[in-house]
Amino acid sequence: MRSANKLGLLGAGMLLLAGCAALERAAHGDWAGATVEVAKSVTTGVKALEDSKVDENYTPSEEYYIGRGTSAVVIQSYPAADMSSPKGKAQLVYMNEMGGYMREATLEVTRDWRKLGEHNSRDEKAIERINNQSLWKGLHVGLLDSNEVCAFATPGGFIWVSRGAVLLCANEDELAAIICHELGHVVLNHGIDAYREANQNQILSSGASKALFGESGSIGSIFGNMVVGLAEQVITSGYNKDQEFEADNWGTRALAASGYDPRAMVAMLKRVQEYERLNAEKGKYLSNHPSVEARIEEVEKVLKTAKLQANPTASQGAATRNQRFVDTFKK
Ligand SMILES: [Zn+2]
Repeated sequence: MRSANKLGLLGAGMLLLAGCAALERAAHGDWAGATVEVAKSVTTGVKALEDSKVDENYTPSEEYYIGRGTSAVVIQSYPAADMSSPKGKAQLVYMNEMGGYMREATLEVTRDWRKLGEHNSRDEKAIERINNQSLWKGLHVGLLDSNEVCAFATPGGFIWVSRGAVLLCANEDELAAIICHELGHVVLNHGIDAYREANQNQILSSGASKALFGESGSIGSIFGNMVVGLAEQVITSGYNKDQEFEADNWGTRALAASGYDPRAMVAMLKRVQEYERLNAEKGKYLSNHPSVEARIEEVEKVLKTAKLQANPTASQGAATRNQRFVDTFKK
């Protein structure tokens, strides 16, 4: 595959999401000029590799390009939903407004994280990275056109939720639980940590990266190995067990901080459990590591120890939230 096609390939999936001014406003991002940016992403990604920055900070723009490249690979497995119709645009705006709002509403949860003493062990440098995290182009929430129940987060602020996962939810609070779990992976830097780990283990090469980015040795291929390795991990096995529990823990606190009912995390996981029971052949949602049962148990502990309950605002606004959820996705 020639390099122009490679760039076109990356640009195509992302351009599906471009051209909608409302989306740009909602996501606080800039999707325009995708082809030019993807060209830059290859250069930036390669520079990050050449610098062997495995143990160092990536800049927000480097994280964005790594996440964008990884997202492009996700879209190869699960196509992005067609957003050209008014309905499709409304769904994307809805999800991005939710994500953008929750990102802002949960800054305090992240700041408090180091005090909680129950997270994955991190050194001061890693904690500093979390506290100083800035998403170069904001948060982007995308909808995948798949009936499978799945959701992914990549570095740099990209969250992908399948239509099947959205429709599994009974109400907005449960969709918020899915987005909060993925947002947890984003704000706690799980993507970049997974990349560091993969890099240290030299899991950087695969047939998929050759197919997408060309033969080894080319600039595209080096960047391709990097993002495809991460995408394959995110798609096939999710993050590691501790990271999944941590995203549930952070996400449950984030739900409460955003004014949603924190018990929606348990409600959503119970739906996933039932989905897995009925669709055992389709594989597991999000991760093969912790069982959904174990995740529910851990979330119940968080609800109890952190004394998280739905605040009065959550119950007052439930009818309005649920109506807009039904209007946007279920009609
Ligand atoms: Zn996860």
